[in-house]
Amino acid sequence: MNDIVLTGDRPTGPLHLGHYFGSLANRVRLQDAYPMYVLIADYQVITDRDLPGEIQRNITDLLLDYLAVGLDPAKVTIFQHSAIPELNQLLLPFLSLVSVAELRRNPTVKDEIAHSSQQAVSGLMFTYPVHQAADILFCKGTLVPVGKDQLPHVEVTRLVARRFNERYGEVFPLPEAMMGERPLLRGLDGGKMSKSRGNAIALSATDDETAALIRKARTDSDRLITFDETRRPGVANLLTLAGLCLGRSPEDLAEEIGYGGAAALKGLATEAVNEFLRPIRKRRAEHTEADVRQLLSEGNERAREQAIITLDEVRAAMGF
Ligand code: ATP
Ligand code: MG
Repeated sequence: MNDIVLTGDRPTGPLHLGHYFGSLANRVRLQDAYPMYVLIADYQVITDRDLPGEIQRNITDLLLDYLAVGLDPAKVTIFQHSAIPELNQLLLPFLSLVSVAELRRNPTVKDEIAHSSQQAVSGLMFTYPVHQAADILFCKGTLVPVGKDQLPHVEVTRLVARRFNERYGEVFPLPEAMMGERPLLRGLDGGKMSKSRGNAIALSATDDETAALIRKARTDSDRLITFDETRRPGVANLLTLAGLCLGRSPEDLAEEIGYGGAAALKGLATEAVNEFLRPIRKRRAEHTEADVRQLLSEGNERAREQAIITLDEVRAAMGF
């Protein structure tokens, strides 16, 4: 089968190392082999907050981050939710295919409600996995490079596709999630590294910002550095980060640091992250905001053409 790749990010802040090792590295690898769509999920920003915030600034930053890590707009269609009204029209029939109970028990929705900054949980929060199904299915995406938190959503998409096909005839393929080297990278506080949780190292962070963030990371006072994820999560997390950036195992790094304590560990992690981010920062600086806006409008046009075709097919299958 010829795969089609679809992934996306919310424009809620700069991309971080969790994105890189969870999804971006896979995208860069896959862009040479398959048609690929990358969605800037701007409508999804208001799932867990009342206002979209610095939405235009964040979209520009996201585009710059994509180019910085090596996504090539000649190969990848980068587009935004709000420019494709057909995605919202697909949401309607798709919502009829899932039950309220299924929406309620989605573990990622529960986690995001727990971290939400909204006054009250909105209807959009419960339905956004179905919106995501529309995002994936509009282009008949089959391969979805995502972090672990997205697995329940890809499951919802498969459910929607399967039920649609059963009721109305074969229209959609069943997509597969593809997890990266590190499906859940932890942030400097030990929880999932997230743009909105103040615990992330951004791909665009400067040397000094990276050093300051790592300096504040929680470790312990045992001078002998060992890799033990359950008993020494803070230490293990820094070893993991450094290991990913250096392409080495965390155990190996722990052995090298030996009795150097937290100071040596943080020094090594800072060095490793900064070295890793250097070429990414350099590429980021090569693009202007005007360039990236232009490529977004081209991507929006291409994605919309595809969305119109799929929506027509859905309407025809349903007999509308
Ligand atoms: P927010 O806090 O605003 O939800 P986020 O950091 O969770 O931001 P998203 O835009 O929600 O980022 O997620 C984009 C993609 O990156 C998804 O595929 C998600 O699974 C992946 N991802 C996000 N955080 C991590 C992480 N810590 N480890 C691995 N993958 C991640
Ligand atoms: Mg998220």
